[in-house]
Amino acid sequence: MLAAELRLHDVRVLVLEKETEPPSAVRIVGLHIRSLELMAMRGLLERILPHGRKRPASAYFAAIAKPAPPGLDSRYAYLLGIPQPVIERLLEEHAIEQGAQVRRGCVVAGFEQDDEGVSVELADGERLRSRYLVGCDGARSTIRKLLGVGFPGEPARTESLMGEMEVGVPPEEVAVTVAAIRETHQRFWLRPAGVGVYSVLVPTAGVSDRAEPPTIEDFKQQLRTIAGTDFGVHSPRWLSRFGDATRLADSYRVGRVLLAGDAAHIHPPIGGQGLNLGVQDAFNLGWKLAAQIHGWAPETLLDSYQTERRPVAEAVLDNTRAQTELLSTEPGAQAVRRLLTELMDFDEVNLHLLEKITAIGIRYDFGAGPDLLGRRLRDIDVKQGHLYDLLHRGRGLLLDRTERLTVDGWSDRVDHLADSAAALDAPSVLLRPDGHVAWIGDDQQDVNDHLSRWFGKPAH
Ligand SMILES: Cc1cc2nc3c(=O)[nH]c(=O)nc-3n(C[C@H](O)[C@H](O)[C@H](O)COP(=O)(O)OP(=O)(O)OC[C@H]3O[C@@H](n4cnc5c(N)ncnc54)[C@H](O)[C@@H]3O)c2cc1C
Repeated sequence: MLAAELRLHDVRVLVLEKETEPPSAVRIVGLHIRSLELMAMRGLLERILPHGRKRPASAYFAAIAKPAPPGLDSRYAYLLGIPQPVIERLLEEHAIEQGAQVRRGCVVAGFEQDDEGVSVELADGERLRSRYLVGCDGARSTIRKLLGVGFPGEPARTESLMGEMEVGVPPEEVAVTVAAIRETHQRFWLRPAGVGVYSVLVPTAGVSDRAEPPTIEDFKQQLRTIAGTDFGVHSPRWLSRFGDATRLADSYRVGRVLLAGDAAHIHPPIGGQGLNLGVQDAFNLGWKLAAQIHGWAPETLLDSYQTERRPVAEAVLDNTRAQTELLSTEPGAQAVRRLLTELMDFDEVNLHLLEKITAIGIRYDFGAGPDLLGRRLRDIDVKQGHLYDLLHRGRGLLLDRTERLTVDGWSDRVDHLADSAAALDAPSVLLRPDGHVAWIGDDQQDVNDHLSRWFGKPAH
């Protein structure tokens, strides 16, 4: 995602990936509303939709599901279930089409930075030079470790096995046993995932070394412990394990080296937020890093990546901590769970949780101002159609209902749409390339000040 965002601004990008082949574990992730909006903003949604399954948006917190409340404020108010390897492939193809270079089988082993750039060393001894380096290298990030950035938080307390395999007992028998166990064990499932194949999730007894892949025997043993039967599981398609460690990088940037995605934050998968969070980091960072490279970034722009995104990750870590507690089989946790189940019948509670998980409730701190300032603008109707269709190039946009403002001096970075009929409850708004509202008002001098704040000095 970051590579494609940088390419929109003509930055040369090289992606170094240690694996020679794409991953095989068919983790089904859900793209939540904000990620779907971002895809729409770059014209990617049409390409992604045929590969996923649309599900109605619903409040889903700690596996407590409630129908979405009225007033969900998005044109893309659904969840798209899509296998993670598919979304990764589609994003990779998109980045390559945009001109990014992707080299597989390249392990980053070290780097040094100086005032002009970063020298990267690969495991085979090859050296490369770039102006910036972004560690999108996952939870065990080599780049984060080499930077010496702390990754405080809690180690894994529980671990789960997850995989796809066949079962040796009739489906009716599986259904009855599974339903009985799931009444108390939320961290367990065994459910159909295609013809003859079942998806299995089962907790382990303790926490092991995650680098070691599980075997079908491990699954059988844990199934017997929790269900009293191993369901005759056999012929695995893929097997994996994951823990519930929760950690946040102390810093997202050290000089010319930045961190994004799981390299910067990890948390349990409950709520399906990790990939979404990483994609949204990339969307926040791309245009800022491009501005820095092209020399027009205002002084604090690149650091605003951390100022804006670290609190968002902090909030996600917190909601996964809360959800994890609510999955406990302890009587106290079960009682709080029952209480929350009742509370989620209140539309406001329901909407609040849904906006958290889907990331449409995010408001960056851009200073004092109306509630819309710092929030994302939904895909409203404008005279040419949909607003998001005007954001495909990743530029800023002055949406001008007064029809008398200009972006003169910034027209190489910011578009201008004069549309007095735009479905917007504000005179005019300045949108950043990530779709967040950077200014609201109707005064030319005021908008010029904010154009300078976000898009640097005018070109003339
Ligand atoms: C069971 C499970 C279910 C999940 N479900 C969801 C969900 O529903 N929704 C959701 O949003 N998220 C979900 N997640 C989380 C999601 O999978 C991660 O958050 C996401 O993969 C993080 O993406 P990333 O690109 O930051 O890191 P990764 O996916 O870990 O990618 C990092 C890449 O860097 C490469 N790399 C590592 N070190 C080096 C090196 N030294 N040199 C070169 N390359 C290197 C790796 O090979 C890898 O390809 C789930 C996770 C789990 C475990």
